[in-house]
Amino acid sequence: MARMTITPRPLLNRRLAEFGTTIFAEMSALALSTGSINLGQGFPDTDGPEEIREAAVRALRDGRGNQYPPGPGVPELRTAVAAHQQRRYGLAFDPDTEVLVTAGATEAIAAALLGLLEPGDEVVALEPYYDSYAACIAMAGGRRVPVTLRPHEGAFRLDLDELRAAVTDRTRLLLINTPHNPTGTVLTRQELTAIAELAVERDLLVVTDEVYEHLVFDDVEHVPLATLPGMRERTVTIGSAGKTFSFTGWKVGWVTADGPLVSAVRTAKQYLTYVASGPFQYAVAEALRLPDAYFTAFRDDLRAKRDLLSAGLTDAGFTVFRPAGTYFVTTDIRPLGEADGLAFCRALPERAGVVAIPNAVFYDRKEAGAPYVRFAFCKRTEVLADAAERLRRAFTH
Ligand SMILES: *Cc1c(COP(=O)(O)O)cnc(C)c1O
Repeated sequence: MARMTITPRPLLNRRLAEFGTTIFAEMSALALSTGSINLGQGFPDTDGPEEIREAAVRALRDGRGNQYPPGPGVPELRTAVAAHQQRRYGLAFDPDTEVLVTAGATEAIAAALLGLLEPGDEVVALEPYYDSYAACIAMAGGRRVPVTLRPHEGAFRLDLDELRAAVTDRTRLLLINTPHNPTGTVLTRQELTAIAELAVERDLLVVTDEVYEHLVFDDVEHVPLATLPGMRERTVTIGSAGKTFSFTGWKVGWVTADGPLVSAVRTAKQYLTYVASGPFQYAVAEALRLPDAYFTAFRDDLRAKRDLLSAGLTDAGFTVFRPAGTYFVTTDIRPLGEADGLAFCRALPERAGVVAIPNAVFYDRKEAGAPYVRFAFCKRTEVLADAAERLRRAFTH
């Protein structure tokens, strides 16, 4: 009998075959090897409020959260999340059945998609996407359908006709992100109303990633999708402490939604991490109750940083899309005589001593994202001033 041969088969499964290591690993390694200022990955270089850090220490010392916390999250945090949604947006959620604490927004996104999608379901998502969306849709067996945000009058905007055209009979869910990473776009009430009307008309679920809800600048308003007519019962809203309180390592996020939706998300979540971040949950409960002055000062600080870095980029010759929210600024490199953002970002550390991220990695339609490059401005003022100066020196003669 002929010897059986084993068909060679790739180890990484087909669902994930298109996903390599993230761009952040490559760019952070470049930052290290060249001694560059890393404006690639979006994490602050200073910790959040001292009293919140102390609250975590206290929880740890008092033995609160050192053992498995309750599956849906500690009651103190669920109550604080519900109170926050009520106070800021007038949204009422039952802390026991309509709030779920997750291991950061990342787990909330994964659990929502794993819990709500059938294999083959289409997910319409705004492109450029946040890092984990495409992979999570793939892990859930869904099919992603991009709707590309395109530059219009100085900002990346949603084309509502393109959005409507992207919805088919197979569409189950819209995946929205506002304020939007990486473009800094904050969807307007008018755009969100159109999204809501479409969701109601086509009977779609909506997952909305609002982790930058507190980072909107100038007179821009963050409108939670769940506040719009017909949306409360079909919307899963995702929040996180990481960005708002500058503790990205704590990985405390949450979902607020109607009971049956939370129940579906929780079913998936309980088999991912089960629970996480015990003592930090107590600290974040206190953080959410900080006075308005904290949130205002945080926003004002980031607005000044946005303006500082944007001025340096403009002087260096980039076209700057002034972000209305988030802590990222997207630029167009074509005025510098460049067209390929990936090549540009690979060369930038040698050329200027600064690391940035090519937006193309966040697109399916790579050509639509090719000339855009993202810089993070959640760094100390002196670091941003140094980066701005390096960019000016490298690109002006
Ligand atoms: C940072 C980020 C997340 C992940 O948040 P964690 O709470 O750190 O998991 C999710 N969505 C967007 C848009 C982000 O920028």
